[in-house]
Amino acid sequence: MKLHYDPATEAFRAELRAWLDENRPTRGAMESEPSRSSAHIPDWSRAWQQRLFDAGWLVPGWPPELGGRSATPVQQLVYFEEMARIPVQRSYNPQGLTIIVPSLRDFGSDAQQERFVVPSLRAEVSWCLGMSEPGAGSDLAGLQTRADLRGDRFVVDGQKVWTSGAAHADWCFCFVRTNPDVPKHRGISVLLIDMQSQGVDVRPMAELTDRERADFNEVFFDGVEVPRENLVGEIDRGWPMATGSLAHERGMLWTSQAARLEHLVAELCAAARERGLDADPVFRERLAALHVDAQALKFMGYRGFARFARGEASPEHSVLKLLGSEVEQRLALEATEALGTEALDVEFAGFGLGVEESPPWARRYLFSFANTIAGGTSEIQRNIIAQRVLGLPRR
Ligand SMILES: Cc1cc2nc3c(=O)[nH]c(=O)nc-3n(C[C@H](O)[C@H](O)[C@H](O)COP(=O)(O)OP(=O)(O)OC[C@H]3O[C@@H](n4cnc5c(N)ncnc54)[C@H](O)[C@@H]3O)c2cc1C
Repeated sequence: MKLHYDPATEAFRAELRAWLDENRPTRGAMESEPSRSSAHIPDWSRAWQQRLFDAGWLVPGWPPELGGRSATPVQQLVYFEEMARIPVQRSYNPQGLTIIVPSLRDFGSDAQQERFVVPSLRAEVSWCLGMSEPGAGSDLAGLQTRADLRGDRFVVDGQKVWTSGAAHADWCFCFVRTNPDVPKHRGISVLLIDMQSQGVDVRPMAELTDRERADFNEVFFDGVEVPRENLVGEIDRGWPMATGSLAHERGMLWTSQAARLEHLVAELCAAARERGLDADPVFRERLAALHVDAQALKFMGYRGFARFARGEASPEHSVLKLLGSEVEQRLALEATEALGTEALDVEFAGFGLGVEESPPWARRYLFSFANTIAGGTSEIQRNIIAQRVLGLPRR
């Protein structure tokens, strides 16, 4: 079977490529001020995101006033394939662009949309996502951070953890418990919390992967007052936003992951050939298996995407997330083992990442655990696949 796109779609791809060649930030600009966390937006990256917005290349599926061009689903697929080829992210506040803005569009009041959607798309406002707590990760519904409504404001007390970018974020899209007397999936609400509010204490956490960049934080709330109009949707009805937010997160993730994996396998093959490692039949076999898995990921993604484009449900997302994150981890481990001490300083090209996020292979291996945990761990994905994709009974 030969898969190809029609001429109109290829013209769309060519237009995007030409625009990217002309407009993407130079390496010099990117190196002038590396992003220090997933909510730290350096000036050059704000300017880049605004250029994407103005040209309709930020979220192509959305209308022009929201940084898009009402692109078809197939054009969006091509868009993500092309974006994965350049070593710069669309946004240096990815949780804002891909989770929080779509959630505000789905659930926010007119006033909230007016206040936050376009400024966030134009990188004038940055966000962190307050879901996980010390006792609530996979079981998010167990969250304990309390918000009591007193008159026209909520008073928030509690703690979040693993909050990416919290030290630089302007706002937190925060899941809180507003009613402790009902079953745990009910009684959860979402508040927009100004990170400069009195009583918000952000404590960065040291990370294994980087000494310069502390993305993880603990966030403590001590009597933080939040105006009632910052409630998103209805009180006690926040749970659908938790599943909605994660769906936004997973959306097209596989596209860039599949494209990135293809490039990384090719890169590892080239590095192996250069060093004569490809003479080892065992290593060759491992490389071949990685190539096959990367191709499987891509074609499984196409199948799920075809269903999505026909308006059907696509249960493949959990499989793609699981396979993509685990293949990337195996790839980084193979590279690290094969290159030995060289893996400590041989950088990979970092497709789809900013230059400051293109670490040596060994560091990449350490970082690969992020993707097998964030957005639902591999074990949780296996549970979902067993029950919702394969239809196996719950134990
Ligand atoms: C890079 C990264 C960025 C993150 N950014 C954010 C952020 O910005 N905001 C935020 O709120 N959170 C964030 N997180 C936290 C992330 O959502 C949680 O780590 C994740 O949901 C898992 O929760 P946990 O760490 O509490 O582990 P737990 O839920 O305590 O799980 C511990 C272990 O038990 C396993 N386990 C748990 N339940 C089951 C089950 N039912 N069946 C089988 N095995 C199970 C898990 O798979 C895991 O191996 C981030 C995490 C990472 C790695």
